[in-house]
Amino acid sequence: MGPLRLIILAILLYIGYRLIRKSLQGNNQAAESESSGKTDDPRITDVLVECPVCSKLTPKQQAIVVQENDQEIYLCSEKCCREYTSEKGEE
Ligand SMILES: [Zn+2]
Repeated sequence: MGPLRLIILAILLYIGYRLIRKSLQGNNQAAESESSGKTDDPRITDVLVECPVCSKLTPKQQAIVVQENDQEIYLCSEKCCREYTSEKGEE
């Protein structure tokens, strides 16, 4: 009686669950579900920001951030970033 027994039970249940799932899915999908480590944090990649230059929606993680008047401006690419900063900077 103790926490170790619960852990062993949980592991056994997990293994059983996986075996059942694998046999239900078949062989073709099993390999794909194993390699699910592409997105680091789905919460961050889900957020889309609009590029003020070309109005394209870009994932926040990939966007280029420009700080302006305590506000963060997100641009889709370096090209748009240059366009944006030259628009604002040259007076
Ligand atoms: Zn853009």
